[in-house]
Amino acid sequence: MFNCDLHCHSTCSDGLLPAAEVARRAAANGVDMLALTDHDDVDGLAAAREVADAVGMAFVNGVEISIEWERLQIHVLGLAFDVADAPLNAGLAAIRSGRIERARRMSAELALVGVGGAFEGAMRYAANPNLISRAHFGRYLVEAGVCKDLRSVFEAYLVPGRPGYVDHRWATLGDSVRWILDAGGIAAVAHPGRYKLTRSEMRRFLGEFKDLGGQAIEVMSGSHTPEHVAVYGRLAKEYGFLASRGSDFHGPGESYVDLGQLAPLPDGLTPVWEAF
Ligand code: AMP
Ligand code: MN
Ligand code: MN
Ligand code: MN
Repeated sequence: MFNCDLHCHSTCSDGLLPAAEVARRAAANGVDMLALTDHDDVDGLAAAREVADAVGMAFVNGVEISIEWERLQIHVLGLAFDVADAPLNAGLAAIRSGRIERARRMSAELALVGVGGAFEGAMRYAANPNLISRAHFGRYLVEAGVCKDLRSVFEAYLVPGRPGYVDHRWATLGDSVRWILDAGGIAAVAHPGRYKLTRSEMRRFLGEFKDLGGQAIEVMSGSHTPEHVAVYGRLAKEYGFLASRGSDFHGPGESYVDLGQLAPLPDGLTPVWEAF
């Protein structure tokens, strides 16, 4: 099998390892082609590519863009784009500046339920202070003894209807796809199985994504169950989407799936990497 892992994170967003170490670990795990896909940031790509070149692993530019679609937070992956593209970089910078302001509001909400110091606490985990994420708040809530692990954090806190969640205006679906396509890349829906959409809403979402020029969806993902793989494999065929495979690795001990360790794509799908 050609071992492609097209979704993972470094300390440029909310991963635990620096970008170069992510690439080294991927190569050691037998990955043939890697894309680093930090949230809303492309600063880790150069360091990861340098390691990939040195060890003879193929490397593809990646980014995971935070968008809002009908009040839901959704993630769109950009793959194989020109990292110097100015409108893409300006769009990502705008999303990042919104994150700081959101983090302050999250911290104020947490203070209302008796969890103090969350902004400063989460910031201590954010190696890139411009990219503060719910994962950093989650690590602080575990450290502070509020929750026993990250899984319980995202059950009781930081999700819609729970303390610490605030609505936020991210980019739109149209913005994200346009930035990626105009930078010469391929847009892919990240972990479609994770969104709280009904079947008909998912179809509407995928239809809009396709009409905007989106070409791919993740079928094999670290956050997909076998049932999700079957459902999104079928939808990829039906909509004519290319199929992607990505662990969504954030760090040792924190992610369910390590780099390059996912099962292969199911038969009968067209892998997105054939389009690079
Ligand atoms: P944000 O982009 O700031 O909204 O944060 C989203 C990040 O929080 C994701 O990329 C994950 O790193 C983390 N996250 C969200 N839900 C969960 C979960 N159920 N378990 C572990 N981490 C999660
Ligand atoms: Mn993350
Ligand atoms: Mn994601
Ligand atoms: Mn991710």
